[in-house]
Amino acid sequence: MQESILKGIVLRAIDWSEKDKILTVFTLEQGKVSIALKGVRQQKSKLKFASQPLCFAEFSVVGSGDILRCTNAMELGSFFDITNDYDRIVYASAMLEMIDSTTLVYESNAPLFLCLAKSLQALCDNNIAGNAVLAKFVLFLLYNAGYGLNLVHCKVCGAKYDGGASLDLNTGQLNCLLCGDSDNKLLLSPQVLQSLSLLDRLDIDELGKYKVPSGVVEEILHILITDFSYRFNKRLKSIKF
Ligand SMILES: [Zn+2]
Repeated sequence: MQESILKGIVLRAIDWSEKDKILTVFTLEQGKVSIALKGVRQQKSKLKFASQPLCFAEFSVVGSGDILRCTNAMELGSFFDITNDYDRIVYASAMLEMIDSTTLVYESNAPLFLCLAKSLQALCDNNIAGNAVLAKFVLFLLYNAGYGLNLVHCKVCGAKYDGGASLDLNTGQLNCLLCGDSDNKLLLSPQVLQSLSLLDRLDIDELGKYKVPSGVVEEILHILITDFSYRFNKRLKSIKF
């Protein structure tokens, strides 16, 4: 049988039959796939490391269709430092949940894969604010799915945002305060808007430079996750606001 090699991050794992597990893995090459790890729940299994969420490995797989079978796995990196901090576990779980709920099987999305890998790497670094990493991740995920926020000027009248902006939750569009007349909206203060624009301009690797008060980042996170919930019609289980 033809073997293929997939680099992937484990999103979740469920027990299967007596000794096996079935993983949901977000891969660079083929997007989200299901991979069976035969015998991994036996004491002597060498692939136990690959059966946990957050594992980043190269999987050798055979088969096609709904569930691929893993013949070998090699760890490529570890994001397990995240598990030293409860908040960071919540942020990482939210990322995995968002990827799982917004991607389709066998639909590769290399930019989103790289964003997830870099975001999880950043969450391992205690010098980078965890909530800022999650906010950057959601901002990119929205952009990647075609729901990017227009942070420069109002789409309706073209004016630069002055004194804040208004996010229409029904459409996902950001408007100036004069044009934003939706009955279902979130208001962004000038400070929040400015901090959101800065977050948008920085790369994930540069988030160590992002020195914004935690309360403002929390507000940004609330806005972005609410926008995510509306755009994908999905309430996250791993994080609540
Ligand atoms: Zn306007």
